[in-house]
Amino acid sequence: MAQEIELKFIVNPPVIHSLSEKLNALSQEQHETRQLVNIYYETADNFLRRHNMGLRIRGNGNHYEMTMKTSGQVIGGLHQRPEYNVPLSEPVLDLTLLPAEIWPQGVDIAELQQQLNPLFSTNFNRQTWVVQQGTSRIELALDQGEVVAGDLQEPICELELELLEGEAGALLVLAEQLVNEPGLRMGLLSKAARGYHLAQGAVERAVKPLGLLSLAPKTTIEQGLKAALAQSLESGLYHEELWSRGNKAAKQHIMLAAGNVRHVLALFGGIIPRKASSQLRDLLLSFETSLAEQDKGDSVLFSAQASITKLVLTRWLFESQWRDFVDEKGRIKLDGSLKRFADGHLSRHSAELRAIFQRPLGDAYADKLTRLIRELDAARLLAGIYPVEQASPWVENWQGLFDAIKTNQIVEIEHYRNEAISQAPFWLHSGK
Ligand SMILES: [Mg+2]
Repeated sequence: MAQEIELKFIVNPPVIHSLSEKLNALSQEQHETRQLVNIYYETADNFLRRHNMGLRIRGNGNHYEMTMKTSGQVIGGLHQRPEYNVPLSEPVLDLTLLPAEIWPQGVDIAELQQQLNPLFSTNFNRQTWVVQQGTSRIELALDQGEVVAGDLQEPICELELELLEGEAGALLVLAEQLVNEPGLRMGLLSKAARGYHLAQGAVERAVKPLGLLSLAPKTTIEQGLKAALAQSLESGLYHEELWSRGNKAAKQHIMLAAGNVRHVLALFGGIIPRKASSQLRDLLLSFETSLAEQDKGDSVLFSAQASITKLVLTRWLFESQWRDFVDEKGRIKLDGSLKRFADGHLSRHSAELRAIFQRPLGDAYADKLTRLIRELDAARLLAGIYPVEQASPWVENWQGLFDAIKTNQIVEIEHYRNEAISQAPFWLHSGK
């Protein structure tokens, strides 16, 4: 088994030429452009997709290769997943060539193979460079072409940085050098994910407001921090994709995701000193300002500033950079129970919210939005540790109030305000 570790960027087509030149200058090893045709297979009931697997045959001239990717870990545009490659003499599936242990228990391989049919394809030209980054070797692949499913298609124009040898962190270091000029945007969706979406009819993707994090009861504070930041990053990138495709409502959700990162950092400010995240918070604030000022997605999203912000966040998260700023006492706190932390802090955030919204505020509601979302973001993270049926209604009433203020709906505002301030705690509170 090989582990595929890669970082993906969407490329703004006008910069293709300057990007190639930059890579030529950076690389000791350049390869000729190859034309790759990839057929992805699936059963009628999406067996592979349901098991987070992706199966394809790639053709390059007379060379064929069967690849199976299984589920892994994704942090923003950084994908890490197991990958199995088998050379084929002809472009015909043969599942018996894949290792037996990759299949879910009880799967009849022969029967599965019978049920698999081509679902979509990706056809692109791939130009590759190899760069030595410290002790690591990285392949850069610039792909231009299209994803095709039936009558539907969409363009591919992306740059993948794939680790050949060494440390995953090297991908992020190299990427920081590449994004200092505009034209690259961190990509969340794999080519396969885009193919499946087309094959399902390419229904326009809907905005997805940040929801409750679902956290296991024994989650530590540090695990909660990581999960919350990963959720924000994913939400931000998801809505960037939507905004880039013309969904205007998505912009607000990018801003909320960026704000959420700052609010999560503030929540743990007693454990992780502010100087650990000062660069990150400055970048986020500037990014949010640029977003607020712009109506055209691509001019902000392909900017160097936007890319650096997400790369710094990804690296902060991937390398757990806060640990360099935390002493032994802090480390013990980070390993402590998030549940215990939440029981204490939820009372505080709840009291703060109730104090702000105790009485009707007439036309002054909009002034309270910043504080409302800050408290709500903190409460939403902490609420993830409790049973969802208890935590969810509480959070939804405050979220309802936020949405009603945002859209200036007077009747809804008073409804949600009354509901929200009269809710009983769902956490273990001291009664003070
Ligand atoms: Mg790859």
